[in-house]
Order: sequence, then C-alpha cells, then structure tokens
Amino acid sequence: MGAHTDDRIVIVGAGHAGGALALALREQGHVGSLTLIGAEPEPPYERPSLSKELLLGKHTAPQYVAPAERWAALNVVLRLGVPVAALHRAAREVALADGSRVPFDACVLATGGSARPLPFPPHPALFVLRTADDSARLRAIALRARRAVVVGGGVIGLEVASSLRTLGLAVAVVEAGPRLLGRNVPEEPAAWLAALQIEHGVALHLGRTVAALTPEGSGLVAVLDDGTALPADLVVAGIGLVPETRLATEAGLPGPQGVVVGPGQQTADPAVLAIGDVALRSPGEGLPAVRQESWAHAQSSAARAARTLLGLPHGVEDVPWFWTAQHGSTLQLAGEMTEADAVVARGERVRLYLRQGRLWGAACLDAVRDFAAARRLLATRPALDRTRAADPGVDLRKAMVG
Ligand code: FAD
Repeated sequence: MGAHTDDRIVIVGAGHAGGALALALREQGHVGSLTLIGAEPEPPYERPSLSKELLLGKHTAPQYVAPAERWAALNVVLRLGVPVAALHRAAREVALADGSRVPFDACVLATGGSARPLPFPPHPALFVLRTADDSARLRAIALRARRAVVVGGGVIGLEVASSLRTLGLAVAVVEAGPRLLGRNVPEEPAAWLAALQIEHGVALHLGRTVAALTPEGSGLVAVLDDGTALPADLVVAGIGLVPETRLATEAGLPGPQGVVVGPGQQTADPAVLAIGDVALRSPGEGLPAVRQESWAHAQSSAARAARTLLGLPHGVEDVPWFWTAQHGSTLQLAGEMTEADAVVARGERVRLYLRQGRLWGAACLDAVRDFAAARRLLATRPALDRTRAADPGVDLRKAMVG
C-alpha cells in the first residue's frame, strides 16, 4: 500500500497489540486519524498479570499499555465497550455493533482471541481466564474456596494453579497429554515446572481428560475418564485460545486458524493488516504457519505493522520469546527449540538448543543473565563451543566459536 502519515487508520481490538500499535504510530510521526475500537470496557492493558499479580491480589488493576490521559494527548480516539460487527473491505469501513460506521484507509485487526471453553454447560463455578474481568471474578470466588480443579497443563493453567495454591486452595491439574506444557515448552524445562508444582502441593493428573462436570452444592465434581472424582469449589479451563478471526473470514480473508499475514503483517488485502495473537505467519517457504501467543509478539508485531503503515522497511525478524512465572520462579524461553538437533545442559537451570552446532533456542529457569545473553546471541545464531557453553562459569558470549 502507498503509506501516508495522514492516512485514516482504524485498529480493531484495543488490547495489548492494538494499544502498542497506536503508540508506535504516533511516536513515529503518524498524524492522521487513529481510532482504536475495543469490545472490552477497559483501555488497552497487558494480560500477563491476570493469572499472576492480579489474581494474587498483589495488583489491584491490570498493567495498562498507557496512562488514560495519554490517549487523548496523542489524539487517539478510543471507542470502548463496543465491538466491531463487520469489516467492509470494498467500502473501506468498519461497522460497529452500535450501528455506527468508521471509514479507513488502513484497518489493523488486533482481535486476539477467546479462551477455548470446555464442552460443558456454563456454571457459576466454571471459569476461563482471558480478561481483567475474568481475573477479578475468579479471585472473588477463590478467596472463599477450598478446592480447585484446573483443566489444562499449559502455561495459563499452570500459572492459575500456582496462584490458587498460593491463595491456600488445594489444587488439582488435569492434563490430557502425557506431560505438562507439551505444546510450546521442551521436555526438560517442562519437567522443572512439573517438579515445582508437585513440590508446592499441586496434584497432577496427566494423560487424563474430564469426562463430566457434575454440579454439587455451589461447586462441581470433575469426573475424569478413569473414573476419578475431583470435587471442587471452582473449575478453571486453561485449554487454549480460539483466535478471533470472524471479521477477517467474513470479509473473505483466509482463516480460521488465524489471519494470514506476510512479514510486514499485511494480509492478502494491502489495506488490512493483522497483529498479535490473531496473526498467522509463515516463517518461510515450506514451513508451517504459526501464531505466536506472547507479550513479546504483541509488541514486535505492532512495531512491524507501524513501520509497514508508515512505508518504512519492516526490519529484521525478532527472535520469539516468552516467559511464565509459577511458585516464585520464572522460566524464560527463546528461539525455535523444536527445530533443534542437540541440547547442551548448562548447569541445572539452563538448556541451550543447537542445530548443526549453532545456537537455536534457550530455556532458563531463574537465570536472567544467561537468558539475556542467549537472546542477544540468537539474533545471529552463532556456532557454540559445547564445552564452554556447558560451563555456567563461562560467560555465554565467550562460548562462541571464532
Ligand atoms: P488481546 O490482548 O487479547 O487483545 C485483543 C482485544 O481485541 C480484546 O480486548 C478483545 O476484546 C478485542 N476484540 C476482539 N474482537 C473484537 C471486535 N470484533 N471488535 C472490537 N474488539 C474486539 N505472554 C507472555 O509472554 N508471558 C506471560 O506471562 C503471559 N501471561 C498471560 C496470562 C494470561 C492470563 C493471558 C490471557 C495471556 C498471557 N500472555 C503471556 C499472552 C499475552 O498476554 C497475549 O499474547 C497478548 O495479550 C496478545 O495481545 P493481543 O492484542 O493480540 O490480544
């Protein structure tokens, strides 16, 4: 698309990525109208604290992307609490659920997704966790509860398990796979977190699914596929995200696994871009397309889209990374660990993933310095001397070959 700093830009989805994009556009000189439309009543906020500090009561409000007054100061129009109902590509406008329409020269879809529900009827004791409101409701009932069942041993399920345990509840995690975090964390670091959960008294039920949720009093009994009955005052489903692609697919853009984008976050329509959790990106010829659900990707995809909209080169690809915090420990992961052909153990808490002798990924438990070094090195994927890399006493940067 021809990029102009005075284009009318509409961002659909006032979450982390949408908010970050609006800030980046203004910071980089966009002067045209900028409208941020969000289904939630809250101005843009980051989600990581929802399962951690907010649920624990350490914070009383989510981490906002910007202070409320900054949006007005930057002349960003916030339309909150009203979802976009349709994207009309030919007419270059979006239709809101309240009947109003907003025209655009460029539209960016930053709609994230919704927590995948369990296939059981709604119940006051059955929760998902995606929004600040979900977190507040979950905390309110958790403070009165004794027993919880978390369905799903992925990142969010385990963070919820950790927080509920810290609040004093007895917690059981039910995971269908043979191990925790099978989707995005390699085996060893996943085992570190499993050990941590067990150490803190969380009961893990691996290779099990919930066959039924039976109401009992004000709570539920989770009946597993082997007949085990787990009575609970509350049940939390952490079984993944359904990307919110409806606007795109109804407008004739490919889906539904995600809104397909190129390296500058553009879709097949040059006037429509997608960022954050909803964007589906092919990493290269012949490789499967992936969605990245992380804080870092919300930031980096927003930054890339801003450059595209302003006609600037979209820059080098960022190394993907994310973190999870459980029971007072933080696991940080970076790179493409699934593509590695060798693993170097660097002490008890750091694993380096190599491909043909080159650094391809890193997993670090409470090892912030090694993680920072590894992330920087991953930008160029250098060859590593395995002996030096395995020695925690040697600075990782000094383990490069040559
Ligand atoms: P969102 O932040 O979900 O924003 C999308 C917004 O679009 C929502 O507000 C939604 O209401 C709105 N929307 C949808 N459809 C419409 C429509 N039709 N019209 C208008 N608005 C619409 N990542 C990490 O790296 N580390 C962590 O520790 C971590 N912890 C997390 C904990 C929790 C509980 C959750 C839920 C996520 C966590 N993440 C973490 C992931 C990270 O928060 C997400 O990747 C990030 O929020 C994605 O940003 P987004 O803007 O794409 O989506």
